[in-house]
Amino acid sequence: MLTDIKSLTREELETQFKDWSEPVYRVEQLLNWLYARRVTTWDAMTNLSKGLRQKLAGKFSIQVLELARKQGSHDTTQKFLWKLADGAFVESVLIPANPALYGEASDRHTLCISTQVGCAYGCKFCASGLEGWKRNLGVHEIVEQILSVERWHSVEGSKLKVEGGAADENQPVTSSPQPATDTRLVNNIVVMGMGEPLANYDNLLKALKILNAPWGGGIGARKITISTSGLAPQIRKLGNEPLQFRLAISLHGATDEVRNRIMPVNKKYPLRELVNACEDYQHEKGRMITLEYILIAGINDMLEQTRPLASLAKRLHAKVNLIPYNKVEDLPWERPTEAVCEKFLAALEDQNVTATLRREKGHDIDAACGQLRLKTERELAAK
Ligand code: SAH
Ligand code: SF4
Repeated sequence: MLTDIKSLTREELETQFKDWSEPVYRVEQLLNWLYARRVTTWDAMTNLSKGLRQKLAGKFSIQVLELARKQGSHDTTQKFLWKLADGAFVESVLIPANPALYGEASDRHTLCISTQVGCAYGCKFCASGLEGWKRNLGVHEIVEQILSVERWHSVEGSKLKVEGGAADENQPVTSSPQPATDTRLVNNIVVMGMGEPLANYDNLLKALKILNAPWGGGIGARKITISTSGLAPQIRKLGNEPLQFRLAISLHGATDEVRNRIMPVNKKYPLRELVNACEDYQHEKGRMITLEYILIAGINDMLEQTRPLASLAKRLHAKVNLIPYNKVEDLPWERPTEAVCEKFLAALEDQNVTATLRREKGHDIDAACGQLRLKTERELAAK
């Protein structure tokens, strides 16, 4: 199979164009077609010569993600289930801006992207890990999640303007509307979809470099948050990268006892090691880390858990995001009552920790990544 053109950096393309004796400014034109106009065919690149287009087509592909299913409505969270070239499914979730959660104010949207098909880490509460790990996503499959959502948005946006109505939910996003430059939608990325991002380190970093580059996605590194279940060595490695990404740790337990019960990764990298790696990351980057803490009834929602959590948060100068658990079919875990969640938040605040509690409604759709894929795969298997 041909390499997808969106897995190459500008430098790599320039080298290729030099090999072909093509002028380097042509790379600029190509990148504009790919990332600003988001076209999906070589023929659409009308200012490139036919000869160059043929050379490109002989060596590279332009793959798009097929929209297999979508949930949600325009003014709320929307979930996209993508079918990849090999038939595997992954999800992206488009979330209207909530500046309080992951950083600076934003007037647009956050896209939550996936990095693997399935997940090998098997956290006990998570739908993504339920059927194991299938494969890493390629660089272009990570990059393309943003492009496909933006393509979808420009089709939908123009339809809404013309017809004043909603569009077909299941329409494949394969056409390329123009011009697309003024229809940028996503300006924050959270790498919190399916998979453990730091277990697909090289592809993730290259994809984020492309999404960050001014010639590519143009999304600031500070607007990109990587979430990890706690791969300590890779956290250290990330600390040595030049780009200033935000880091979120899926903590979910503030003691080894709780974490061992629900997150097998803690046996490999216990809290001590994880926290040391986070401290090093923080010293290196000077950035605030976010601790994600899902509240699961009877597991980690007891008030006494706020003490070790507060002490970890203070040691790391971290902010805590409390997220009431989203029920996953077939799993025994439950969300605590609202009162319990509010008390947990108040107890953290009393200990001078900066914390937020996710209170949005509509959590059927807001549910963590992995659930739509699981549902769809099970439906297909039953057919
Ligand atoms: N593997 C990475 C990123 C993907 S998971 C990680 O674990 O950080 C993204 C977030 O969703 C994690 O914080 C994860 O713990 C959380 N999550 C998983 N299942 C959930 C559920 N059912 N309800 C709420 N959050 C969930
Ligand atoms: Fe994998 Fe993250 Fe889910 Fe754990 S929480 S199984 S690491 S996706």
